[in-house]
This record gives sequence, C-alpha cells and structure tokens, in this order.
Amino acid sequence: MKESRKNHIRPIVLSGLLAMAVLIFAVGGWAVLYKNNLPAPVKQDLAPVAANSRQLQTKPVSSWNAGVYSPNRLSQAAGKVMAPRMVITPAKAAVKAEAAVSKNNAQNHLPAPNKHKTVYLTFDDGPSKITSKVLEILRQQGVKATFFVLGEQARQRPELINAIWEQGHSIGNHTYNHNYHDLYSGFTEFWSQIKQTEEIVRNITGVRPQLIRAPGGTFGHFDQTYFHLLKQAGYSVMDWTVDSGDSRRKGVPAADILKESVADMNASRVILLLHDGGGHEQSAKALPEIIQRYKSAGYAFGVLDAEMQPVQFRVSDAAAKASRNGPSRDWIAANIAPNRELFTPGKALALEVGLLETKLLPGEYSISEGQYRVPLRAVVERLGGRVNWDSASRTGKVVWNGRAIIADAARKQLTITGADGRQQVRSADVQMIGSSLWVSLRGLLEAAGHAPLTTAVTIDERRVKTL
Ligand SMILES: [Zn+2]
Repeated sequence: MKESRKNHIRPIVLSGLLAMAVLIFAVGGWAVLYKNNLPAPVKQDLAPVAANSRQLQTKPVSSWNAGVYSPNRLSQAAGKVMAPRMVITPAKAAVKAEAAVSKNNAQNHLPAPNKHKTVYLTFDDGPSKITSKVLEILRQQGVKATFFVLGEQARQRPELINAIWEQGHSIGNHTYNHNYHDLYSGFTEFWSQIKQTEEIVRNITGVRPQLIRAPGGTFGHFDQTYFHLLKQAGYSVMDWTVDSGDSRRKGVPAADILKESVADMNASRVILLLHDGGGHEQSAKALPEIIQRYKSAGYAFGVLDAEMQPVQFRVSDAAAKASRNGPSRDWIAANIAPNRELFTPGKALALEVGLLETKLLPGEYSISEGQYRVPLRAVVERLGGRVNWDSASRTGKVVWNGRAIIADAARKQLTITGADGRQQVRSADVQMIGSSLWVSLRGLLEAAGHAPLTTAVTIDERRVKTL
C-alpha cells in the first residue's frame, strides 16, 4: 500500500492554515492548532430533520457497481495525472510552521497587510427557517457568504434558494440527504446525490453548483476515488479552515460559537464552517458579532468559487483502507468526462420541434457514432411531453405528441402506442446512465412522430429541426 499512500497526498494550498499554524504554534503549541483546524474523526454534523427519508431518492443502477473495476488501479492511474501534492499532517505542518516563523519574524514590524485577509463565511445543511434570519443579517451587514445546500431541503424551500441566489451569495452542493451511511458506502451513491441536488438547484437558479462540500467534511469519508472522480468531473470540493463548533452537539450556545469562530484573526484566508440547518438558531444569533470581529480585524468577505485553490483535508488511513467498490470503467466513461463539459464552454444543441425550441448545453447531450444522445426526461419535458419513471419495470413512460412510448434500457427498445391504440416495438439505443435514461435523439423523435429531421452545425451551435 506504500505506492497508493504516496498517491493520497492532496493538492492543498493552505496558506491560511500555514499562517495560522505559525501563530498558534508560537503561542499555544501544536495541540491547539490540531484541534482548531483538522476535523476530529468522530465529528458529526447535525443531521437534517429528515436525514433518513429516502423516498424521493433515485438509486444508481446496482449493476454498474458489479466489481469489474479495481479501485486500486484507479488510484494508481489517478496518481499519474495528478499534480504534486502536499500532505497536511501535524508533524509536517509543524516543520513548515517553524520555517515560516523565522520568515515571519522579519516582517513583524510591517503593518498587517489587511487587504490580503479574506474570510469566507460558509453555511451548511440549509435551507431551513434559520436561513431567512441569516440572509437578513448578511444583508444588514453588507457581506456575502456561501451556502452548501441539501437537495432535500432545497426541494422543500425553493424560495430560499432563490433568495440566496438573488442576494448574490454563492451556492454549493452538500448532497441530497446528508446520510453518511448512504453517501460513504460507495462513490456512485455520492455521485447520484450530487447530481440530484444539482438538478434541483439548477431548476431554481438556472445555474449548476460546481462547489461541493462533503457532509461531515472529507476527512474520514473520502478516499482517493472520491477526490479524483469529482475533480475529473469538473467539481471543486471544499472543506474548511476554521470550525465554529456549532454542530459539535445540539444547542451549542452563541457565545461558544463566537469564541471558536474568531479564535485566530491572523490567517490570511479563513473558510469558516457554520450551519443554517434546522436547530441552528444559536449560529444565527452569533453571526452579527462574528462578522463584526472579522470586520474589525480588517478582513474582506468573499464567496467561494470553483476557480480558487480548494482547501481539502487529507485522506484518512481508515478511509483509504475501507473496501468500497469503485465505479466500473464504463460508468466512469459514461458519467465523468461528459459531466466536465457542463462546466467548460462548448456548443449548445438547439432542438426545434414544431413550434417549440429548447437548448441542451454542452454536457447535457453527447455525440456517439455520429448520433446525438440525449437524456430522455430533460428533452421530452422541455418540449411539452411527460415522462414517468416506472421503478418496477425500470422503464421510462413517455406521453408526447399524442403517443405513449415506453423506453426500456434492459431490452434496448422503444414500445410505441399510437392514438389509435396500435402498438409497435422498435429496437433503440436506450441506456441507463447514473439515474437517467438516455436515448438516441433520432430514435426518440421518430418514435414520437416528429420526423423528418434536418441538422446543422454553425460556429455557435448545433441545431436539429423537425416537424
Ligand atoms: Zn452538513
């Protein structure tokens, strides 16, 4: 395992952490630094109210997990393409801190370079009824923050997602149900919850969250596969540098939250972990004073984005050794690379069907063997049809253009029932990818009676026209 451990080094630029290390190491010794900056392995976020409710959740197809793929091979492959990394361990950070102390001493007479100090307030587990309070405080104080939202909560409170967005805060993805058992049993489950939450947020704001925060943090949870595949898929995983301690147990008093939140005001970059989920009234109560203290210390308030160097905890030994099934090669090829295109500029695919038109962004469609392939539900629903997922038969039932179509990934066929009740079965390239059914666009349009087609590609877009 020596080889793979080498590969578990994380690419972290923790200049804030390092600076913090310098000061705390100088005054308080290592123990304090460790306590404040690395998550304790046993730390638990407060579970959201309905953390165990799974009725709305779609499951990945379990056959994708059938162990064709060796996670070890993935780790090794991952190591080859990754940038050099730095492990943040107590021992190493202390050595670095010592080196930095002497450098810092030389600069002690200079005034604090305030313009380089930034604090990123982050709120996890919302939106909940606390969120409105938090938003009001942020508005009054004139500062921005980042909200890592749960899909389950966002679905119930879309108006709060909209309010967060409209007030100029950043929105990140905190998975769908926050259930550690589900999320850390294997990567495809984590992925499925990320995509599910992403769709919910996109439906409200029109924008896909590219930032991810792992419930409970990555430490003790993520292995190299999680880190690698999420990065390859275009996401940025963000842990924190300072834990306010507001989820250490239920009802931590505001005074304690404040104390921990402002324990070190010298780091150049602080990513502060707070919560706006149900039951976190005390966090909202502490917030005005937390903001005041950072303002007084000369901090600017920033929102996180996917372009900045992420702060990420290292892979714990336990997480590295946990025997979890990695996804298969086929699954990775079908999901990870196409997903990255969602976040890179490319050509949209415009679909003109009768009087309706919709656009699929790069990554929302794929091209295979000269054919457009599209997600069934997205296309049909945007063009006025209806799709129901039948979990018993694992088929999609489409009602569109006066026809009923059953898309069956197992049999690779479309069963079409016309207005006259006549039935026709056609073989078709129907595939289950993640939790979505994908079909060939041509096959779908023809089955729905929307042929013939003309296709065109210009410098700006691809366009498919049909009657
Ligand atoms: Zn959380």
